[in-house]
Amino acid sequence: MRIETRAVHAGRRIDPATGAVSLPIHLSTTFERGPDGEYPLGFSYSRENNPNRAALEACLADVEGGSEALVFSSGLAVATALVQGLEPGDHLIAPDDVYWGLRKVIGGVFGKWGLETSYVDMTRADAVRAALRPHTRLIWTETPSNPLMKITDLAAIAQLARKAGPHIVTVCDGTFATPVLQHPLECGIDMVAHSTTKYLSGHSDVVGGALITRHPNYLFERARASQRYGGAVPSPFDCWLTLRGIDTLPYRVRAHSENALRVAQFLADHPGVETVHYPGLASHPGHAIAAGQMSAFGGMLSFQVRGSAQTALGVAARCHLFIRATSLGGAHSLIEHRASVEGPQTRTPQNLLRLSVGLEHPDDLIEDLAQALAG
Ligand SMILES: *Cc1c(COP(=O)(O)O)cnc(C)c1O
Repeated sequence: MRIETRAVHAGRRIDPATGAVSLPIHLSTTFERGPDGEYPLGFSYSRENNPNRAALEACLADVEGGSEALVFSSGLAVATALVQGLEPGDHLIAPDDVYWGLRKVIGGVFGKWGLETSYVDMTRADAVRAALRPHTRLIWTETPSNPLMKITDLAAIAQLARKAGPHIVTVCDGTFATPVLQHPLECGIDMVAHSTTKYLSGHSDVVGGALITRHPNYLFERARASQRYGGAVPSPFDCWLTLRGIDTLPYRVRAHSENALRVAQFLADHPGVETVHYPGLASHPGHAIAAGQMSAFGGMLSFQVRGSAQTALGVAARCHLFIRATSLGGAHSLIEHRASVEGPQTRTPQNLLRLSVGLEHPDDLIEDLAQALAG
């Protein structure tokens, strides 16, 4: 069945006890054993599993085309669980413009584990190949990337990892694309990670993360242990909210993509704008690859104003409709000066603003940006 149908039905069923169409929220932390001491319905204790989490995981495995999924209390808890699965001294490869929180996980939380990390330009398969070492265990990709919207050729990365040997697991952070626009597992990538905080839940009201695997592998099993015994689990209500959001995901993502393309085209023609980073524009260096591996280009874009950090901050300050806030993927349009969020070590250009284009009417969004850029 098509994604719109699976987004509504996968993992759900009519509640056998009440006939409820919307899955009830099961707050119980503990579940009764049978007289034989077994758990006849598969649930024992809510950290290990619960009906709302099981439904969300079944839905995500289905919409992403994987064999299994795990959900976590945040997107970064997914990254933590994966990095924790590596051995001290292992080598991993990550994009040089990786989501900044992942750098904090690798260098901060796990700094003392002595992992070796190569941050490379993932848009160049030869750079990834050159970074391989005998003890490389994980290749982390993120496409489109944050905030420069760089596009990684997922099939090329999957192929070079496969050639290098079965000891390498590939992961794609697909948060910006969602399972609607891109299918990393079909490209041969082993696992997909999402911050479900963003488009999947879609309403800026719940933090969560997911890991979906194409096939069983040791890092997925270690992530499962980290979820169950490390305990970074989402609550039943978090899972319920996220699953409710997925009902409308395909339609929302299509509208986000259409609005973002309109906004990107407006900005590209504006004299106050130096560059627009949006893979849907033919001028974007990753456009051809994006057109091949995505069905539309998503709701995220960034642009560089002509001027300084102050110019960029001035544009954000004059916006009325775009809300000055971090995060992305909700109904409201958001604008953010990434360099000030990322701090003094950032590689993000100072004149760059990132937009999460929401579900408002695109003409209203364009009018807001026009008056903000006019100064
Ligand atoms: C937000 C985000 C994360 C982290 O997710 P949280 O839910 O905030 O922990 C990871 N990757 C990308 C691309 C993100 O946008």
